[in-house]
Amino acid sequence: LGPTVCVGEILVEIVATTVGDGFLKAQPLVGPFASGAPAIFISQCGRLGGKAAMVGAVGDDDFGRVNTDRLKRDGVDVSTISIDPDYPTGSAFVRYRKDGSRDFVYNIATSAAARFGWSQAVGDLINRSGHLHVMGSALSVPSAREVIDKAVDIVKARGGTLSVDPNIRKELKLDEDTERRFSKLVAAADLLLPSGEELERAAGVEGEAEAIRRLFEVGVKEIVLKRGAEGATYFGRGGDRIDAPAFVVQEVDPTGAGDCFGGAYLTCRRLGMSPQQALTYASAAGARNVTVLGPMEGAGTQQELDAFIASTERHP
Ligand code: ADP
Repeated sequence: LGPTVCVGEILVEIVATTVGDGFLKAQPLVGPFASGAPAIFISQCGRLGGKAAMVGAVGDDDFGRVNTDRLKRDGVDVSTISIDPDYPTGSAFVRYRKDGSRDFVYNIATSAAARFGWSQAVGDLINRSGHLHVMGSALSVPSAREVIDKAVDIVKARGGTLSVDPNIRKELKLDEDTERRFSKLVAAADLLLPSGEELERAAGVEGEAEAIRRLFEVGVKEIVLKRGAEGATYFGRGGDRIDAPAFVVQEVDPTGAGDCFGGAYLTCRRLGMSPQQALTYASAAGARNVTVLGPMEGAGTQQELDAFIASTERHP
């Protein structure tokens, strides 16, 4: 079957260099870096040599070029990234707080990232795609919703597969319509890639074992739970479970770990690897990415990941 397609927001990220109190003061900044969770995911797919294409939009500006040039270099088909003549490329500024946490100042709602839609070219791509990856966060963007709804139906109807990264924090209250769409999307997922508490959020029940049971009951085929520096766990429908310890690295920038992990896992599975093998590459992709500043600057090729795996210890 055809390429892996990811639909969603494309942004640049600009990063603070000093720690503050939750307000972004004038200071030297680093970036712009190509970003947006779906774009990071597809970058990692492309870098690993999987056939990959991105659906989304950028503005007719330098920030857009940062993204399209980067994805093109990664081997991603960018012909369905539309260039919006009227709205700028979305952006996110990362700021750091004294307690070690970080948050974002977003400019997305009035950017090209919130305005792309279905087109002939998108339809042609979806009609030959073998796999679709969707981030739950894209459901809050009305234009993306329509594309996702249509794309899920088409890809599934032609025997393709769907992966979903919930990418929605537990505390986030969605309106009823978005909640319903989210549940439907989760139930249609062949592969679910939740991070931490998103597992229970996606299942709508408390407790890890109960959440896994419920998700398989609604139709999910394979679940990989991401736990940051604590590693990741694969759950199969047959009851099998594989724990993958994390690699020991010095974290420089945590943004993008989960997206690189997901992109690598999915690509390895699509290339025919076992869950165990795919988990090793995915764990390496996530860990390697946090050692480099910029959300997708550390996404690895197979050669880079092989070298990383050979030279890096894993937590016990
Ligand atoms: P998300 O970004 O979706 O929250 P995680 O932070 O759980 O995802 O990261 C995904 C995977 O990347 C983890 O399961 C782990 O394998 C790897 N990873 C992330 N952070 C680190 C880290 N600090 N050290 C080693 N591996 C990491």
